[in-house]
Amino acid sequence: MRLRRPRYHAWFEGLKQPAERYALDEVVYCDSQGGLLQVVHDMKALRSKRPRAWKKLFEERAHRNDWPYGSGVWGKKEWVLPQIEDDNIVSMFEGHTNLFWAERYGRSLGLEDLWIKLCGVTHTGSFKDLGMTVLVSMVKQLRAQGRPIRAVACASTGDTSAALAAYCAAADIPSIVFLPRDKISLAQLIQPISNGAMVFALDTDFDGCMEIVREVSQRDGIYLANSMNSLRIEGQKTVGIEIVQQFDWEVPDWIVIPGGNLGNVSALAKGLDMLIELGLVNRRPRIVCAQSAQANPLYLSYQRNFEVFEPIAARPTLASAIQIGNPVSWEKAVDALRRYDGIVEQATESELATEAARADRTGLFNCPHTGVTLAVVRKLARAGTLRSSDRVVVISTAHGLKFTDFKLRYHTMKIDGVVSEHPNPQIEMPADYQAVRDRMLREIELRFGA
Ligand SMILES: *Cc1c(COP(=O)(O)O)cnc(C)c1O
Repeated sequence: MRLRRPRYHAWFEGLKQPAERYALDEVVYCDSQGGLLQVVHDMKALRSKRPRAWKKLFEERAHRNDWPYGSGVWGKKEWVLPQIEDDNIVSMFEGHTNLFWAERYGRSLGLEDLWIKLCGVTHTGSFKDLGMTVLVSMVKQLRAQGRPIRAVACASTGDTSAALAAYCAAADIPSIVFLPRDKISLAQLIQPISNGAMVFALDTDFDGCMEIVREVSQRDGIYLANSMNSLRIEGQKTVGIEIVQQFDWEVPDWIVIPGGNLGNVSALAKGLDMLIELGLVNRRPRIVCAQSAQANPLYLSYQRNFEVFEPIAARPTLASAIQIGNPVSWEKAVDALRRYDGIVEQATESELATEAARADRTGLFNCPHTGVTLAVVRKLARAGTLRSSDRVVVISTAHGLKFTDFKLRYHTMKIDGVVSEHPNPQIEMPADYQAVRDRMLREIELRFGA
């Protein structure tokens, strides 16, 4: 039997010129100047297949159980990580999340064509699965080659650690997570604990956890799973491709996404770039990045036309996954927003909590980060930037069930500094028919005016 060289090929490359190159199976996160790397694909090889053939291939693979192509990420394996062996792929068939028309909510904002991409409806409840399947698969391949990787570690605002722990457990690889103590939700904390990760709760914030994980990855032979590791971006970039595929290869006018460490907004643009470069589509959507006003370095930079970027000290926010003042991927994000005629807008605590609750009333079930994003959509719709007939896609990054404490506090009016406009506390009373009936009829009149 003749061994065939893989047709498709990718490698790491520095962002700075002259760009340094590294093989994807090298353990390297930065170029020699400390700058971020990106994964670059041999586009010439990918162009050897016609746009129509790519579309057909992706469509045929979707929603099937064929290993590993039934995954939304691995269904696009040639565009993601072509050199990985199928046996080394660690997947729980992430991706292919639902994209649906939020008719009633959209109408309340004056938007007729508003869609929600529910990235939280996935194995660990956030989009972090998309990147983690790629990173952990590469680690599995490295270990299969006999490379000395003792464990994989990340600093996390909650969701990254949940994904890392789950994918490592599935592959029997040790994982270590560094979390800011008492700053993540109970649901997020219990995920890595249940999946057997070594869980450190440190007396610091995310940026402080990041410093620790950088040290252990540089000095102690621990593999780094944070988004400065550009392998994760390769998985996350499938979200934009998937959205376009779900619209039968039609590009929406706007995609709105929350930003913290800014890996995901960069990933979104990177996936869309490939669609354009390979001729599957011929126009770009505009991208809006939504930040919490408590952690808004990109917003501040946008105000100054991206001429400067200054890290800040992030203040506490209900949108805990984006409480990041020194985002590692800011350069990639600025570049992405420039290419996609981008906008950065922010939302306050009160705005995000109110908007999440308003949208929940129309049947959604939003995490606080999606609350930030929806509040930004409201502002841009009111300003006329989003027009009523524009097709707008909101990327909802996590499942609301991860943030029940936030929701309960809202409905019991216990969020400091936030006036709950739409509280819906449970009605506690004795199990007495007459009393229940009286109360029920009163409430019906009060609430529904019937
Ligand atoms: C990680 C995360 C984000 C932010 O993504 P970045 O790549 O850090 O900008 C937003 N929402 C949720 C739920 C997340 O877990």
